[in-house]
Order: sequence, then structure tokens, then C-alpha cells
Amino acid sequence: MWMSTFARFALPALQRSTGVAARRVLGAYRAPVPPPSYLTSVQLRGQQTLSSASLPVGRHPVRQVRALNQERMVEVEWGDGGHSLYPFTWLRDNCQCPRCTHESAQARLLLLTDVDIHTGVKAVEVTNDNKVSIVWPDQHISLFDAEWLKKRCFSAAARQALREELFLNDRFFWDSSLVIPTADYQQVLEDDKAALAWLQALKRVGIVCLKGAPAEKGHVSQLGQRIGYMRMTFYGHTFQVEDKPMANNVAYTTGTLSTHTDYPALHSPPGIQFLHCIKQAVEGGESELVDGFHMAQLLQREDPEAFRTLSSLLVDFTDVGADYCEFRLQSKKRVIEVDSEGQVVKIHCNNATRDSILDLPVDQVQPFYRALRSYVDIMNRPENVVTFVMEPGDLVTFDNWRLLHGRKSYISTPNQLRHLEGAYLDWDEAMSRLRILRRKVHGDA
Ligand SMILES: [Zn+2]
Repeated sequence: MWMSTFARFALPALQRSTGVAARRVLGAYRAPVPPPSYLTSVQLRGQQTLSSASLPVGRHPVRQVRALNQERMVEVEWGDGGHSLYPFTWLRDNCQCPRCTHESAQARLLLLTDVDIHTGVKAVEVTNDNKVSIVWPDQHISLFDAEWLKKRCFSAAARQALREELFLNDRFFWDSSLVIPTADYQQVLEDDKAALAWLQALKRVGIVCLKGAPAEKGHVSQLGQRIGYMRMTFYGHTFQVEDKPMANNVAYTTGTLSTHTDYPALHSPPGIQFLHCIKQAVEGGESELVDGFHMAQLLQREDPEAFRTLSSLLVDFTDVGADYCEFRLQSKKRVIEVDSEGQVVKIHCNNATRDSILDLPVDQVQPFYRALRSYVDIMNRPENVVTFVMEPGDLVTFDNWRLLHGRKSYISTPNQLRHLEGAYLDWDEAMSRLRILRRKVHGDA
């Protein structure tokens, strides 16, 4: 049942598990992240403002409003005593009237060149229906819905909560003790709640195995349509992972694949991968998984110099051949990509397609190898690797920006050819579907 397996990840981090390994992981996971966010959007909305967590959604009465002319801000005092500040310029720029905002496109019509970015206000008041009304010096009138304003509060706590609601960046880090979340394939296709739980767990844990997909081609495409559309690559709309003569990719052999992320030879590698097991080998072919973000966190702790090297040096990747059509790809990526706040956002690690071209000053070559080896050694520790066997009908969905996946070698016989069908998607499309489903299921956000 998908409910019971997802429930493990829905619990607050501290209650989630009592296993020693799990506690170690959770301990590592707990420190840098905000409160667990595997919550409904309703709960998240409650947290987003300074002190109004107890108020139900849709009920944020405005007690009073005043213009702070010195600071050029409107101050809203909420019914619960909390305050929010809104700069005049931002309010004018975001006027919701039909002259300033296109109603059906839900997009701004007002040109920035028509906004006085040093504007004052003529009058501010609360209307009887709990809206904030502003009269501007040119007599233009803006009306702002209280809930709309509340959601856009500029306080650090409110912005943090809204960021989490929109992007779900709070992750559950794991090691070999992970029990891979599962869901029923057919239920995900048909039931919005199941589809929402699937996408939320995919974002938070990085992997969900959908069970019971018919063991035939075409189901990765069907699942892709559940989100919207898939990512086309030089390997086609979908790709067949099997032992192929004159293989154009090391995946299309019976050999071992060390854990890797797919397609760093693209400057924007696919965010999500689907792999559907149609036929499994009689012997070998076990899958291996590693949480690249968690491993990067361990590296940063154990070998900060290596972390600095891998998150700063650009490495060359290449992929050359012919499949959907001819290709000759080159890219430059950091093995560990961090954002402006130092958070790890993508891993690019693929031993097969890391290029022999290495565009580094010669004295940085050895430090690069030392750093990469340090990261790979952490990833290869048995306590960090999840090993499992895909059964025919299993459709594994995982975060290709975060997880590294591999497989052990296998024996291919003429009457038992291992066959997986794969496809790529991107996170923007999956998160878009997640937000739509959340709105349908919870009726808000
Ligand atoms: Zn307007």
C-alpha cells in the first residue's frame, strides 16, 4: 500500500525511526534543514507568518494598516497582533487591478517604466471586506486581498516557509538502511492523492518505486504523461537498456556500471529518470543507489578541501555517437554544484563520460583526482549503498540531480535478455504537476 510506505516519510524527522543507522542519518540530516516539510500545504501556510500559525487558512483579518512615509512602506497589523511590511514600490508594481494585471493570463501588464519607483501614497485603509486599499498620488487605486498579502509577507520566516511550500527543498537524507518508498503504479495514474504522495516522496527522498506496471514497453511514456511531457535526448523519447551489439553507451552492455548520474555531458542534465523493468537477468544485474547530496554533506565534514575542489573546479564531460541521430556532446560541470547559499543542488558524476580532456592548470590535476577519489570512496562504503533487485513490473522513478545509480554485471542468455525501458523528465514539469495536484487535493496553495 502506498499510504503505509509513504507514512514513514510523512512523520516528523525525530519520530521517524528508531533504528541506529536511521538515527545516524537523521542526525546528519537534522542540523541544516528547516522543520520537516512533508506536510500538507495547509500546515505549511500556517507557519509562514510571524505569529499566526494557529489561524486557519483564509482567515487573516487585518486589524489596522498605516503608511510609514519615512520608510516608504505600508505596515499591516494582523488580527493576531503580527505585523508585515510592504514597500510602496512593490505594492504599486503589483497592483491587481485589471489595468495593471491581465486577468486571464495572471500576468503583469504594468510596465516598470510606468512605475514611479520613489512613489509615496495618498491614503491607506482597510475595507469592510478585509482588503487593503491604497490611493496613489495620481489617484490610481489598488485593492489587495489580505490572504494575498499575508502569503507575500517579507519577513525571513514567511519567505522561508513560502520557499519551502513552492520548492520543497527539505530533503530526507539516507544511507543503506533506506527502505525505498513504494506506490502502486495504477493508483498513481488514476488517483490524485496517490500521484501527489508519489511526487512529494520523489522530491523529499529522491526515489520511489512504482509496483505493478505491466511488464511491456510504453509505461514510462504513460507515467510521463501523468506529469505532462518528457525530456527528449539523443537516446530518443524513451530508451531501451539491454545488451546491444556495438553498444553506443556502456549501459547497453552486461558489464558493471559504477554508480553515476546520467548525462552530465548535457549542460542541463535531466532532473528525473524513470526505469521500468520489463525483464530481469537470471543472474546478477542488481541495482545500486547512493544519496549524492548526503554523501556530499559527509565529504564536506570529513574532507572539506575535497568538497571545495569538487564544488569549484569545472570538469569536462563528453558523449559521442549515434542513436536518435548523431551526437558529439561536450560540457563543463562541477562534480558538486552548490547554490549561492552553499547548498548542494546537483551532482554530476559519471566515470564513463568524464572526458580525457581536462581543462585545468596542470598543478590542479592531482588535487582534482584526490578530491574525486575521496568522494567516490565515501559513496562506495557499504553502509551508504542501497542494493536491490528490480522485478519485472517495477518502475523506479528517481532524482537524477541527486542520486547516483549503478548496476552489477549480469549474465545474458538468449532466452532471458535483461530489458529495462527508461525515460527522462525535468523537475520544473514534475514540480508544476505537484503544485497542481496539491491544489486539487487540498484545495489551496
Ligand atoms: Zn492598478
